[in-house]
Amino acid sequence: MGEKKRVGILGGTFDPIHVGHLMTAEAVRDEYHLDKVIFIPAAEPPHKRHQDVTMAKHRYVMTVLATCSNANFEVSDIEMSRPGPSYTIDTISQLITQYGNDTEFYFITGADTIQEIHTWDRIDELLQLCHFIGASRQGCVPDVNQIKESFGELGKQKIHRLETPELEISSTDIRQRVKKGYSIKYIVPTAVEQYIYKQGLYKD
Ligand code: ATP
Ligand code: MG
Repeated sequence: MGEKKRVGILGGTFDPIHVGHLMTAEAVRDEYHLDKVIFIPAAEPPHKRHQDVTMAKHRYVMTVLATCSNANFEVSDIEMSRPGPSYTIDTISQLITQYGNDTEFYFITGADTIQEIHTWDRIDELLQLCHFIGASRQGCVPDVNQIKESFGELGKQKIHRLETPELEISSTDIRQRVKKGYSIKYIVPTAVEQYIYKQGLYKD
């Protein structure tokens, strides 16, 4: 039997996808020798249920536009095509069924998100199924050792911290910039910038 395939997952709202997501995914892919990273736009993010989130179709197209020039990046509609809220445990279980047991999954998050995984649905079960990589995010200094320890032995084995370049970029800020008529050049790929204007996203 050969070595296991290593697949990274970057789940997010991607409203819109930006250079912070792309650079983080590429840095983790390099460091962990991942065969590829699958970007998975959430259909109905459980933690954002009360906010206005752009139609999944637009977020999916922007994610495809942003990733198509990287042969090691892929986009999946696995969460968008499943009814109801998007729980990561359901997504990873579905992927394991698809890929089989000789693939290892690495769920990539920013530092803000790794701090919150204790609130995730069936997190103990999820840690049995995949690794978690907490990448750096500007303004967030999570105590990853404490997070690991809070999950005991499983946490020590499955939760990892990776220092990655910090870019002070968020989708929230990009949406506000578009609304105010400020430039978003170099914060999102050109094709995403054009798509936002063409579709009139984030104007109000
Ligand atoms: P919003 O402001 O709408 O919450 P966001 O910029 O945080 O958007 P999400 O789609 O919520 O983007 O994030 C998806 C994942 O990417 C999360 O794990 C988040 O921590 C991570 N992430 C987002 N932006 C960055 C960044 N600039 N650097 C590192 N990680 C990031
Ligand atoms: Mg966020």
